Parts: sequence; C-alpha cells; structure tokens
Amino acid sequence: MRHRTIVAIASILFATSAVKAQTYPVTQGKTYKFEKVAEGVYYASGGFGSNNVVIVNEQDVLLVDDGTTPAAARAFLADIKAITNKPVRTVVNTHFHYDHTDGNSVFGPEVQIVAHEYVRNAIATFDVLNREPFITSQKTAVPARIDALTKQIAAERDPQKKAAFQKDLAAAQTTLNQLKEIKPTPPNVTYSSKMVLHKGSREIQLLFLGRGHTGGDTVVFLPRERIVCTGDLMESRLAYMGDAFFDEWVTTLGALKNLDFGLVLPGHGVPFSDKGLITAFQSYLSDITTKIAGLRAQGMTADQAASRVDLTSYAKDFPQITGPGADPRGVRRIYAWMDERGKK
Ligand SMILES: [Zn+2]
Repeated sequence: MRHRTIVAIASILFATSAVKAQTYPVTQGKTYKFEKVAEGVYYASGGFGSNNVVIVNEQDVLLVDDGTTPAAARAFLADIKAITNKPVRTVVNTHFHYDHTDGNSVFGPEVQIVAHEYVRNAIATFDVLNREPFITSQKTAVPARIDALTKQIAAERDPQKKAAFQKDLAAAQTTLNQLKEIKPTPPNVTYSSKMVLHKGSREIQLLFLGRGHTGGDTVVFLPRERIVCTGDLMESRLAYMGDAFFDEWVTTLGALKNLDFGLVLPGHGVPFSDKGLITAFQSYLSDITTKIAGLRAQGMTADQAASRVDLTSYAKDFPQITGPGADPRGVRRIYAWMDERGKK
C-alpha cells in the first residue's frame, strides 16, 4: 500500500514537471535550429514557414514538412548536413497549406513525397496561390510591406533609421523573389487512412485521424519513441482556421489524445508534452463555433462577428489572445461551414 502511494506521488510530480518547457541539445544551422528530442529525431525551427521534423533512420532521412518556398527548403537541406550525411528519401506533407508544402519542388524523383490523398487533390485543383491563406499571408502582405517601407525610407531623415528600413526593404524584396519561385508540387505518394513505414528498426506511422485543420491532416507517430508530429492539427498556439471542419476537428483531437505519446512536435510553436493543451484547444474550438453562431443569429456579418467574439478566457493557454476578436478568415470559414452543414 505504502509503495503504491509513493508511485502515485511520483507520477503526480512527473505529470507536473512534464508541462514545463524542456530543453534539448541544439545544433544551430545557418537558418534552422535543430533540437534533438530523441535519438535521430530533431525538431527544426527558425525557417520561413512551418517548423519541420527531421527523422534520421539507419539508411536515410525522412522529413516532416518543408517550408514556404524552394529557397526555404534548400536552406533546410543545407542545414541538415550539420546533423547527418544520409540522403533524404521521404518527405511527409502534414497538410496542403503553402507554408508546409511549397518547398516540395526542390526534391528529385528519388524522394517520395507522401501525404493524405486530400493533399494531392488540394494542391492540384485548389489554385493554392490564389486563395487563402496564401493571399493575405504572403501574396498581398509582402508587396504591401515593400510599399510601406519605400514610403518610410523616403520620409525618414535620421540616417540610422533610414539604413534600418533599407535593410528591411532588401529582406522583403528577397522574400518577394523567393515567393515568385514557388511551383506548387503535389505529393507523389498518397494514402487514405493509415500508412506504416519501416525504416531499419524505426517504425513511422502516418495516420489520418479525421478531418480537422483541413480535410486531410496527417499526424506522424513514432510509437517506440512515443512522439507525435501534428502539423497544424495541433499547434502549441492557436492554429489558422480558414479551411477547418470545426466539430470534426474536436473529435479528431480526441483521437489524437488516445495515441500513446509523451511529446508533441507541432507545425508551429514549440514542442510540448501536456495533453491538457489539446483539451484546451478542443474547448476553444467548440466555444468559438458556438459564440460565432450566436453573433450570426443576431444578424452580424462574419467580419463583424470576428471583431466582436470574446475568447479572452483562453489567453492563459494561448497567450496570443490579447483581447476580444478572432482571425476573420477563420470566422468566415465558420459561416461557410455552417452553411454547408445547413444544406445537408
Ligand atoms: Zn496549416
């Protein structure tokens, strides 16, 4: 009995400490920072677009996501050489969004780009460079920034400030040129519910747990290492909601929680261990849909509802919430999704 009590206390202590931010051994590349979270498993951040995962196997390397541009993917590949000389043979796209897939075009035919079948269809047919989230996040944002900086430079009298603006302008122009190089490239291997890769002694599961952040999100699960790579299905911060299926997302996150993992490597943010953050995000999703439905019933447009909706009670889990309001692209999607459901 006494022994059991001690075990119970130990597990409470462990559960508490697991929530804290962990520190891992770091290899700093020119662009990307690699955190070694397990033997051969690295969390890569600091690039342009998604945070990626590098899984070094006995013979070869598998990547989870590849950033916003061919330039980002090339920088990623160059930096990977600091951790391994093995060749990249597999790239998993967690979902179709530009910031996870627009590095795809740099890979040769020897590399299998694997994703859920929805991703192939989306990249092939959605005209992804002329729709959200690419339009407001990149296509119009970068030229607008160049415009604003050009005006600031013209108006600035202080030579030091002027030089700083000029540096920012050069960086924005580089980004614009890099965006022009994008050729949306669909995955060349697809699956529909589950795919298991055996790479030497490592087992890598690609799982479609249901619709959520998009219609085809993959989680990459390493059962032995108890690590799950979640893309934007579950970030450590609030995810973009413009292509979401809201009630299904909540259910899919429930399926995610049923996996036996001790560490989440998200598509944006930081690695985390606390399943409570997933529960908090489920509540956020349920709450925002209920609240938006209420504002819509009062006759508000989606954009009015987006500026009004109050989710500040979630700020302790998602500190990016600093006041009332939500991303209008997500709220417009809630309206469209409610219409789709109404027709069924
Ligand atoms: Zn996304």
